[in-house]
Amino acid sequence: MRRTLAKEISKSGTALHEGATVNMTLSPVEPGTGIVFRRSDLGGREIPALYDRVGETRLGTVIAEGGATVGVIEHLMAAVAGAQIDDLVVTLDGPEPPILDGDALSYFQLIEEAGTREQAGARKAIKVIKSVEITIKDAQIRLLPSDAPEYTFDLDYSNTKAIGKQSYTMTFTRENFARDIAPARTFGFMHELDMLHKMGLGRGASLTNTIAIEGDNVVNKDIMRFPDEFVRHKILDAIGDMALAGGPLIARFEGVKSGHATNNAVLRALFADAANYTVVEI
Ligand SMILES: [Zn+2]
Repeated sequence: MRRTLAKEISKSGTALHEGATVNMTLSPVEPGTGIVFRRSDLGGREIPALYDRVGETRLGTVIAEGGATVGVIEHLMAAVAGAQIDDLVVTLDGPEPPILDGDALSYFQLIEEAGTREQAGARKAIKVIKSVEITIKDAQIRLLPSDAPEYTFDLDYSNTKAIGKQSYTMTFTRENFARDIAPARTFGFMHELDMLHKMGLGRGASLTNTIAIEGDNVVNKDIMRFPDEFVRHKILDAIGDMALAGGPLIARFEGVKSGHATNNAVLRALFADAANYTVVEI
């Protein structure tokens, strides 16, 4: 059975880049709709959350259609995938969902508060049957056939002792996601924030929603939830970006220093050849 929300739920907060307050409403919707973003401030323009609508990936994953965009969708998409939601409308009166705590747990808890319900129609998953590999500079992703969805990530920030090298592997279940991945906050470097501010971006970033790194130190260590929070957040981002496949992805995801651009590129490579995957009902 497919899954949607049991009832509508709203939350307001600051947009990470725009800095303005955004009002977000998550609404149940008819089976087969998929995940759709709606810009109420642009006459209700709709953008399906699908990999082929992704344009910009430099500062978060941005989807676009008919001149409307929604940016930084990956944390919300990770929560939606973690909660196993198939059909949902996300209405926003601005260009990004509110960043909330900089994690996926804020959205996941909102979904749990609304509750979910099953509805007619089968869940269709995309099962990888042939390995797909993408390399962009020193970043690499491999999608390998697997009976269960798995994520493994190697991160290397050897230039700062605050992060260093971290690795993490997880089997993607609702429980593992909620406990081990969803709480992991986004992170950023103070010198990059200065640059973003000059570009009028990152205006909603704060020491409560972003782990801030300066040199070899974490500025706000008090908000950290895991010693290896950085690599866990990279898996969170990957889960959110893979949710743009249009259904649960059954594969082993192996990421090395990869990010939103590589995540989108690997989905495009996967769907470029019908021999790479099969659609299965789960
Ligand atoms: Zn992120």
